[in-house]
Amino acid sequence: MNKQEQIYKELPGLLSPWFLENARELPWREDREPYHVWISEIMLQQTRVEAVRGYYLRFLRELPDIQALAEAEEERLLKLWEGLGYYNRAKNLQKAAKLLISEYNGVFPSEYSEILKLPGIGEYTAGAIASTCFDEPVAAVDGNVLRVISRLTESYDDILKPAVKKSVKQKLEEVYPKTDCGVFTQALMELGATVCLPAGKPKCELCPVKSLCLAKKHGTQMELPVKTRKKDRMAEERTVFVLQCNGRIALRKREKKGLLAGMWELPNLQGKQDAAQALKTAELWECGPERLCKEVTRSHIFSHIRWDMVCFYIECKAMPDAFQWIEEPEIDASISIPTAFRQFLAIHAGKAD
Ligand code: SF4
Repeated sequence: MNKQEQIYKELPGLLSPWFLENARELPWREDREPYHVWISEIMLQQTRVEAVRGYYLRFLRELPDIQALAEAEEERLLKLWEGLGYYNRAKNLQKAAKLLISEYNGVFPSEYSEILKLPGIGEYTAGAIASTCFDEPVAAVDGNVLRVISRLTESYDDILKPAVKKSVKQKLEEVYPKTDCGVFTQALMELGATVCLPAGKPKCELCPVKSLCLAKKHGTQMELPVKTRKKDRMAEERTVFVLQCNGRIALRKREKKGLLAGMWELPNLQGKQDAAQALKTAELWECGPERLCKEVTRSHIFSHIRWDMVCFYIECKAMPDAFQWIEEPEIDASISIPTAFRQFLAIHAGKAD
């Protein structure tokens, strides 16, 4: 048995007991109900644990089970998701819930291969649910787990390569415990999230597996893991309009396809206009612009693109049908608007600078 195989083999025996002693108390860890684990795992993609906590509790209060999720009005669902971003995740949750009702009798499938068939569920989430809720020995490998394994085995393989992820998953599954599989899955995640931290800040002295760790032994923790640099995000300039008339604000729905598909938005267009051009545009839209109140610039980062935006706040005297003119309190209470646009409304309402 080589050194790496030895590390994998000894990992569960050291890590699982440490987790049982040191696990953070998180609301989705209170039981092993698949609906709870599923919702939390989807929310936790791209979002920090602390930020998810409140969203998760509110979501479960409003939509406590698969049936409620399947039947929820899309607008209500998106409102519950507002601020978490990546709205397709919420839409896929509902698609999957509907499928669970129609094809699975409303019962969550208990096997990894079946869970993987549900919309919006990839290998990581399927592994997390199958091992945590159904004790199936399948690994859930994400960036956290890859970082831990790279350092433990002092591997300089590029963790963004699918082949590397596949190999780590396979090697972990060879050593998965026969029972309490979910404990090992969560222990690996917890180590990555609380001890073997990214950006060169691992807390090696507190680490329950430091005796195995080759990176610690050779002082190479800061060099690992290896990730090829992602291509720079494409930047796009946009002009956004907060058109106000009699306490109402102009909104419209986005196209059903593409970025933020089907979501509400403030009127906007590609390219950066100056104040005179923006007033002209409002004129062309037949809004009867009367006064330019404010001009604000902001950026918003999506996964593959960055919007550099200039926003014009314009008082108007007409409300053309091209837009929906909605009262501000109603927007706040029941309309879900992506953060890219919501930030301009928050400035308008004095809730942000
Ligand atoms: Fe990570 Fe340090 Fe633990 Fe190695 S010893 S796994 S580098 S925290």
